[in-house]
Amino acid sequence: MTARTHDFFAFASLITVASYYPPLVLNITTLIVSLIGNVIGALLPDIDQASNRLWDLLPGGDYLGKVLKNIFLSHRTISHSLLGIFLLSKILGWLTPKILNPSLIDVQIVNWSIIIGSVSHLIADAFTEEGLPLFFPFKLKIGFPPVASWRIKTGKWFEEFVIFPGIVLYIFWFVINHQEKILRVFRLAVQ
Ligand SMILES: [Zn+2]
Repeated sequence: MTARTHDFFAFASLITVASYYPPLVLNITTLIVSLIGNVIGALLPDIDQASNRLWDLLPGGDYLGKVLKNIFLSHRTISHSLLGIFLLSKILGWLTPKILNPSLIDVQIVNWSIIIGSVSHLIADAFTEEGLPLFFPFKLKIGFPPVASWRIKTGKWFEEFVIFPGIVLYIFWFVINHQEKILRVFRLAVQ
């Protein structure tokens, strides 16, 4: 899947989860940081690719990306697994309270938004030809449908003209049909 598809699918996942499991309290700073965190989370699993947009944010990021790519050996290993998600949640639990001000920002909500982004990335990748090494370090790759040749080829017409517009349509449909729930979350933030 392309980065754009991952971004939109992560956002679709975030508004879905937030509508059904709304936070009890939320402020505007937390909301904005969570939306940014969701995009970062959506791109994190592909951090093993030098072309990852997250590397563009760092000086010399392209070079770092290439070094890391060699460390990860091949694309889609630990960063696309349950173990990777578990480690990510541990790292976030330690890191975000240190780089964000917990008295201004609810780091729990931010961390959940990042993790929802990353989990949505894995779900989307499971529909691609390459499959998902969900149980890494075990080599087994899973995918839907089980026959690899029936799955999506990244960046090709099916993703461009069916999957991506489908996600955008879902977002519109969801927002229109869950206005009350979504407004309730936004009202929390602007109170
Ligand atoms: Zn990926």
